[in-house]
Amino acid sequence: MMTLTNLSLANEGADIFVPDGVSIEEALKRTTHLAVGAHHDDLEIAAYPAIEHCFENCAAWFAGVVVTDGRGSSRTGPYEKCTDEEIRQIRRREQIRAAMLGDYGIVIQLDYRSSEIKGGINGSLISDLKQIVEAVEASEVISHQPLDRHPTHIAVFYHLLEAMRSLPANRRPDSFLGAEVWGKLDWLSSTQKMTLNSGRREHLAQALIGVFDSQIAGGKRYDLGEIGHRHANATFGDSHSIDEFTQASLALDLSDLLNDPSASACEFALDAVDRFRGETKQRLIDWER
Ligand SMILES: [Zn+2]
Repeated sequence: MMTLTNLSLANEGADIFVPDGVSIEEALKRTTHLAVGAHHDDLEIAAYPAIEHCFENCAAWFAGVVVTDGRGSSRTGPYEKCTDEEIRQIRRREQIRAAMLGDYGIVIQLDYRSSEIKGGINGSLISDLKQIVEAVEASEVISHQPLDRHPTHIAVFYHLLEAMRSLPANRRPDSFLGAEVWGKLDWLSSTQKMTLNSGRREHLAQALIGVFDSQIAGGKRYDLGEIGHRHANATFGDSHSIDEFTQASLALDLSDLLNDPSASACEFALDAVDRFRGETKQRLIDWER
């Protein structure tokens, strides 16, 4: 167990970093936007609108949580010969760099192996996340959502949902958003899709994703893919109006899952698919009569 002031995190290798050096307690307390990502760089992809909003904003602070340890990262090119432990350390350093560059209020790396959280609910992770969501009092929480295709993202979503549901109703955030990483959300019904501005500082977005050199030079061009996707979101979201933003990120409002503890995330996801099915049928059916 790693006890860091008011947090007792399960893993010895857990790490907390506060870029501007205030106490951990103060850094947690000032948080207005909390994001929980499965992997290093998920925050910079999924929660970028919140990071951009909080950047050099004395009234808003971003707190990022990375659940896994980076050991399972793919590695080619200059990182090909790195051991699991070496790539873990590299990815931790990259996340710290992103926190400094992005003016984060705090970044917490929980250091779980993916295999420890993918097989079902892990009580230690629930405990870590509960302590964090109780300490921050954030008005907005961003994480993965049940339509994502990555099994570790789904695992993090379910753990965070359980931790968030333990909060008393008056401590829940004003908004609980599920963002896109693996499996984009442009197909979602406009009755559910949220379009967030992520185009105010493209240079910052490029820099934050670019920090994760072990991924990009290692063979995955997240820098090009994600920024290009944000441009596409801004332009292809609505065929009948001019672009509202230069770049946009899409999200799903998960508040209903939080406010009704008996609600099934699986049914919630299938309802989104049914809405897409219904809208598709409505567009086509008259042509086939
Ligand atoms: Zn990820």
